[in-house]
Amino acid sequence: MAATIIEGKKVSARIRKELKPRIAALKEKGVTPGLAAVLVGDDPASQTYVASKGRACDKLGLYSEIILKSAGTSQDELLDIVRQLNENDQIHGILVQSPLPSHIDEMTVTLAIRPDKDVDGFHPHNVGLLLLGRPALISCTPFGIIKLLEHYDIDPEGKEVVVVGRSNIVGKPVAALLMQKGRTANATVTVAHSRTPDLAEVTRRADILVAAIGRPEMITADMVKDGAVVIDVGINRVEDAGTEKGYRLVGDVAFEAVADKVSHITPVPGGVGPLTIAMLMTNTVTAAEILTGIDS
Ligand code: NDP
Repeated sequence: MAATIIEGKKVSARIRKELKPRIAALKEKGVTPGLAAVLVGDDPASQTYVASKGRACDKLGLYSEIILKSAGTSQDELLDIVRQLNENDQIHGILVQSPLPSHIDEMTVTLAIRPDKDVDGFHPHNVGLLLLGRPALISCTPFGIIKLLEHYDIDPEGKEVVVVGRSNIVGKPVAALLMQKGRTANATVTVAHSRTPDLAEVTRRADILVAAIGRPEMITADMVKDGAVVIDVGINRVEDAGTEKGYRLVGDVAFEAVADKVSHITPVPGGVGPLTIAMLMTNTVTAAEILTGIDS
């Protein structure tokens, strides 16, 4: 295997460490950054994500509230919870874990969150600022991808970047970040999706390939240019009777074969995933700084 493995855990640990003086400065002024995570329903993956966000807060000394509601919770009840959190001075960041049950409209809920507490960066206000090149709270996974590139001195300037996937939470914002004027940006970005006729022809052009598809090991070695940087966002459960849980996690990239021909690659797990939580912590601290006017 020739590639450098991009170690998300290591980068995530560095980012958390760098947050400590900012958290200490807030605490000195009597402010403990606080995150509220609301989970509706009993989706096991969502439960795992929310629990790990709570643990990450604990480790950094942030305040956190995890609000668990049954799948039958109405949209109005959820909106009431969000409104209370908007007004709660102990809470600087609010996230409502997706997916929500089908009777709840995710956009209505996103719109109800105060933009300055929107630590997921999903509110149209924050999406708009990102597109305008004036980002405030940046969607965590795309923000984490930028941090990974920075850490490994991979400068996208002038490079061909191909993002496979155009979701509002990963594909579109990561494309917007990489095409911006500025540091760790200035790339020529192509966004591919399920209607792209010859995906391999597009992905082979990429100096930096970001796969955010949700299809296990779909990106194969023949779809990747020699020496490319490959960022695998996908988290897919595939059945594996040989494991205790009966499944294992794989990315959207066929890791072993692709790692043989690229310069850098993120593993799954342990690549992008740890950054998503580190950037959520970062956004919570940033939101606390902005809301209180306290800046280290
Ligand atoms: P979505 O399902 O919202 O979007 C998937 C995108 O992939 C869509 O734009 C879709 O195209 C495209 N796509 C699907 N099939 C193909 C195909 N055969 N060829 C080309 N494009 C295709 O997923 P998300 O963006 O929310 O998530 C993507 C993956 O990343 C998932 O595995 C998810 O679990 C993971 N994830 C990981 C995170 C982390 O922290 N590491 C955080 C968030 C997500 P179209 O628009 O045409 O339908």
